Amino acid sequence: MVATNELDISSGLTEQILAELRKKIGPRKYMLWFDKVTKLIPNEGKLELISANKFIEEWIRCNYAEILGEIIRKVAGYSMELTFAVDESMLNSDMISKQVLADRRELQVGARTRRGENYSSGDDVGKSRGIRKKFRNTLETFVVGSCNRLAYNAIISVLENVRSPFNPLFIYGGCGLGKTHLLQGLCNAFAEKKPEVLWCYISGEEFTNQFVSAVKNGRLDEFRNRYRNVDVLVIDDVHFLANKRATQEEFLHTYNAVSAEGKQVVLSSDTHPRKIKQFSNSLIDRCISGMVVEVTPPDKVTRVEIIRRRTKDLGYPLSDQIIDLLANHLTGNVRELEGAILKLYAYSSLCKAPIDIAVANQIIEEYSCSIESESDIRTLICAKVAEYFKIDVSELYSGRRTKLVAYARAVAMYLLRKHAKLSFPEIARFMGGKNHSTVVIACQKIEGQLKRNEPLEFKDVGIKTSPDEVVSSIESAINC
Ligand code: ADP
Ligand code: MG
Repeated sequence: MVATNELDISSGLTEQILAELRKKIGPRKYMLWFDKVTKLIPNEGKLELISANKFIEEWIRCNYAEILGEIIRKVAGYSMELTFAVDESMLNSDMISKQVLADRRELQVGARTRRGENYSSGDDVGKSRGIRKKFRNTLETFVVGSCNRLAYNAIISVLENVRSPFNPLFIYGGCGLGKTHLLQGLCNAFAEKKPEVLWCYISGEEFTNQFVSAVKNGRLDEFRNRYRNVDVLVIDDVHFLANKRATQEEFLHTYNAVSAEGKQVVLSSDTHPRKIKQFSNSLIDRCISGMVVEVTPPDKVTRVEIIRRRTKDLGYPLSDQIIDLLANHLTGNVRELEGAILKLYAYSSLCKAPIDIAVANQIIEEYSCSIESESDIRTLICAKVAEYFKIDVSELYSGRRTKLVAYARAVAMYLLRKHAKLSFPEIARFMGGKNHSTVVIACQKIEGQLKRNEPLEFKDVGIKTSPDEVVSSIESAINC
């Protein structure tokens, strides 16, 4: 790694980074979130992003930290840690016009926070003792309740005794329930409390990408050394390895090498190991040979505590009455809860209005509507597709490959892309954990057929039609 040089940084590097950022995210978003309300300054070999208030800081951290990390690495030619701070005097200097503030609010309304990302610009591997990456999530900020106590305790046990009885520790549960928070919190705790422990945190997706690129470039040895010589190997979202035979095989070897040394492995997934699609039996056996623990959606007590802590951290503690109201209505996962809190905070911070019951109710209403309409449209599309093709909706989510089911599934994927505005990986997950390239191919196939619009026939169910008619009949059934 190149040593960081303060002089290099001050001579135009920050301007270059911001110019690249502007190019990447476009002038409108740049103007809303960066122009005049943030400063990027070098600070002891790191870069510090100073925001005009806590809300802007939080928003940038959740939505732009990853992009900033990539740009820093590209412009500087090496990784630099990015830290965050708030300087409220920037707001008072009257630099921000009312229009800009109003625009920011407009952009925020209806949007969601993405998952809390780590904010260092390096990759996710502690390459040598002494070089540690810090994540935003810590175990101290994790709210423990009946929904996640077992998982939290298991993590603490791993932290306290590196040779814990929970090996591997496998944490599974739905999206936004704190798995990544726990895994990154564990790595942070090692970095702070046991700097001698060499840990490595990587997502299943990144592990796959790195493996594929190592194979292509003939650098497998380097790849293997990187993951096999650690004390604690943490792989987040291993369900990403579903359907990827070669990567699973490699992961199995990695797992065997690490555990043969008595080293710890911690894994997370959105589902139980047995339910991960096309996970090899040997891998399932390894995953369930230690401790498998589930995290479930937060119960009311946990929701209250999360809201209390989160709003306090944001510098805007709420009354018990409002916290109770929010906790009663925002019953989804923690990420959704956080999104609603940020929205509430945005209202008050940008309109300079206090948060009262009426504002809280408005957020709850908007929020519930957006969640309902999102999940409804997905389910509705699949239900209508199944109805049209006279199959059971569960067949759409299954691996069945008869001509009829495969075609119906492709149509569902195409319509999900078009009307539910889901990304390819989101569709893949929604459709029962398919590979995202399957979705890409399915959507292209339907698009191609729509252009050619040749006759289409499924004799078994008496359908004789054209692709255009299939799509328009289903669209009219879902009112699109
Ligand atoms: P997952 O990895 O399960 O999809 P994340 O760990 O990314 O979920 O959590 C989503 C968001 O909710 C993150 O911002 C995280 O910090 C927060 N979160 C989840 N569970 C808790 C909890 N028990 N206490 C505090 N914050 C939480
Ligand atoms: Mg996660």
